[in-house]
Amino acid sequence: MARIVMKFGGTSMAGTERIRRVANIVRRQQAAGHEVAVVVSAMAGETDRLVGFCREANALYDPAEYDVVVAAGEQVTSGLLALTLQAMGCKARSWLGWQLPIKTDDAHAKARIEDIDSDALVASMQAGEIAVIPGFQGLDPAGRVTTLGRGGSDTSAVAVAAAVKADRCDIYTDVDGVYTTDPRIVAKARKLPSVTYEEMLELASVGSKVLQTRSVSLAMKEGVRVQVLSSFVDDDAPLADDLPGTMIVSDEELEGLEMEHQLITGIAADKNEAKVTLTRVADRPGAVASIFGPLAAANINVDMIIQNVAKDKGETDVTFTVTQADLDRTQALLEEQKETIGFYRMITDSKVTKISVVGVGMRSHAGIAATMFKTLADRRINIQAISTSEIKVSVLIDADETELAVRVLHTAYGLDATDAG
Ligand code: ADP
Ligand code: ASP
Ligand code: MG
Repeated sequence: MARIVMKFGGTSMAGTERIRRVANIVRRQQAAGHEVAVVVSAMAGETDRLVGFCREANALYDPAEYDVVVAAGEQVTSGLLALTLQAMGCKARSWLGWQLPIKTDDAHAKARIEDIDSDALVASMQAGEIAVIPGFQGLDPAGRVTTLGRGGSDTSAVAVAAAVKADRCDIYTDVDGVYTTDPRIVAKARKLPSVTYEEMLELASVGSKVLQTRSVSLAMKEGVRVQVLSSFVDDDAPLADDLPGTMIVSDEELEGLEMEHQLITGIAADKNEAKVTLTRVADRPGAVASIFGPLAAANINVDMIIQNVAKDKGETDVTFTVTQADLDRTQALLEEQKETIGFYRMITDSKVTKISVVGVGMRSHAGIAATMFKTLADRRINIQAISTSEIKVSVLIDADETELAVRVLHTAYGLDATDAG
């Protein structure tokens, strides 16, 4: 007998027929002799719809009230899944974020899980009841509802798995594993049998939304075994134990599994960034701090940063990227600080994509970045910004060139599957 946390994403939960199929997978997993808890997302498109209502109500919305609205999608699906399981003769009940509770900090709209009270949950699982937990939501110290950032149900699932000391956390989605790049963009993408925590962390953080970044760092920290697999299977398909998707493994485990790891593991595209340029900023100590200080205080993450060399008059342009969701607040804050910072104009551009290549092989091989720049140059794709880490190179390009860039890089690094069109 194993204890398994199963997580189902938005497309898996999109409508009563899909929920029936999910319930069937859950019922069969329990019938195979396992203790199960299930974490669910809102129906596909529902969170976007709720976010849209918040924007219409107030463009500069209060994140605490935003959380009240957007957490609702998961409340609906957790109740529906419990009802469907009951209709199949299973014992099941929902546990909302505030009922467990899933305790978070108070960073609304991007809260971090601090603790999960798992006693009641474990007792119910041991009694043969299927616990259904809405992902994405939690409770802050003041007793207000929080959400964990888009895609946060993955993190809820890993946190629940850590709290109940699950043997495995199975993340069911609409693809059957982690691929070398988004299989919906590149037909020649290849499924990876395993990927290391570190690589998955980088891939997720640069836009492979198959797993939320925080879910991977939490799994790595807590040693949770995570598997990515598809819920789009026949009702009598083999269970997760026999139909493995992609396993997230440690470096040591990977060495035992694969003779030779590819130099580049994967390529990701992130369309959620926006570029901000402040022109004619004074080239003096403290100028850059006066830009990024207020953004940090407002919990706005800055990703890529470029500062040009000073032109005449000791002035320079500063360019950086933030998420598109933070763009309105960034603009408002910088306008407020215009006098203090002393810039001339603010230019913003949301039509950009960040393309990243990731692989642990980069540590020991030179020339990965050079290949990237040359491949893009050959296609006349202009690079607007660059950033690197030990196992990643990222570039910012025009959003219209996203697909082309991913495809040519996938080929250039020898990642194309030989049997796909
Ligand atoms: P869910 O609703 O189940 O959480 P998501 O839409 O968040 O699903 O994540 C699954 C999607 O991630 C896939 O449909 C796929 O388009 C996308 N994706 C991006 N990069 C990858 C990758 N490297 N491997 C697999 N899927 C990827
Ligand atoms: N429903 C939330 C979202 O769309 C959380 C999730 O699905 O993981 O971002
Ligand atoms: Mg997701």
